[in-house]
Amino acid sequence: MSEPILRISDLSTRFFTKSGQVNAVESLSVSIDEGEIFGIVGESGSGKSVLARSIIGLIESPGQITGGKIEYRNAPLADEFRDAHPDAVNGDYVDLRSLPEEAVRSLRGPSFSMIFQDPESSFNPTLTVGEQIAEAVEVQRRASSNPRSTKARTSSSEYSLGSYAYGAVMPNRSFVSSKSKDRAIELLQQVGIPDPEERVDEYPHEYSGGMLQRAMIAQALAGEPDILIADEPTTALDVTIQAQVLNLLREIQDETGMTVLLITHNLGVIARMCDRVGVMYAGEVVERGTLSDIFDTPVHPYTKGLLGSIPDLDTTGGRLQPIDGNVPSLMDEEMGDRCYFADRCPKAMEQCLEEPDDASVDGGTDHEVKCVLAQTEYDESQALGDSHFGGGDT
Ligand code: SF4
Repeated sequence: MSEPILRISDLSTRFFTKSGQVNAVESLSVSIDEGEIFGIVGESGSGKSVLARSIIGLIESPGQITGGKIEYRNAPLADEFRDAHPDAVNGDYVDLRSLPEEAVRSLRGPSFSMIFQDPESSFNPTLTVGEQIAEAVEVQRRASSNPRSTKARTSSSEYSLGSYAYGAVMPNRSFVSSKSKDRAIELLQQVGIPDPEERVDEYPHEYSGGMLQRAMIAQALAGEPDILIADEPTTALDVTIQAQVLNLLREIQDETGMTVLLITHNLGVIARMCDRVGVMYAGEVVERGTLSDIFDTPVHPYTKGLLGSIPDLDTTGGRLQPIDGNVPSLMDEEMGDRCYFADRCPKAMEQCLEEPDDASVDGGTDHEVKCVLAQTEYDESQALGDSHFGGGDT
């Protein structure tokens, strides 16, 4: 088995707000294998999108990555930085957090690409869809013309800031080369946009929501990335279009073999798409494993709660079991060192007042859980009771 393409270890991302420090991602570790679809699932507010943005280097003030490593396996890149930034290189891995900002920026497109939640606010309304896809194509062309040079990826006479500015003030702007425009048409065709030769010159407001989401996938594919991060890629779409977009993602992944990190709150999407899954709660991955580990033999009470709150088409008459309470405040002063799920957990015990470690389930390497129940039976005599966290009616 090959080494993971992405190793995230002890990653912490914090937001330093006027109200205090928010721990959005907390000492999170996860590895993603090359060519797999790895799903991250959890409720809104669990830190999924912050994790995605941390990986791709898009955390903005007042946010900051305060600790941990994001190691990307790429032998040519490791060779490029081995002498100048020895602290960033470990074998074939490069720690993105230890690279200069310009180098990380140059990896967006050719190495990492992202599909955002809301396509309508992600496209620039003043440029045609084709121009915006062609821009990503230009970045890829520069990277492949000189893969060992980060500078080559961020400057080009053919597609430079000057040519962009010229195009922006001229009514017949043409900052996109005809080759890149042709590639944009191919990409629009690949993602199923009808009449791509005409649609390439249309503006985002002329596309439907489903078409824009497809166009965003085309834009993300333009760089032929090693890793595609899809953050709730179907949330803004109606159900039939959701299915089409997921099928499209699946087909493209089958064809290209690229690695996909799929972030969603929807367990149905996870079941349909993913090879392995991480369940995220309060900034931590609390359980990870194969699809079968998570759906057939879950251990963490939160995972069980998520599964219990979705309808089962094989059973009739039963009521869904929602998880009582809400995702906790991620304010530093309120989090403490206990298990963060303890105030909602029906099996919380005295020992849960200390933060549990990651533990493997049944000694396996794939299935891990951050819960004392991985190694201890529930003991009712140690139960904390509803009143422990200020009343059971959370
Ligand atoms: S560690 Fe304790 S409180 Fe946390 S999920 Fe496990 S049983 Fe529940």
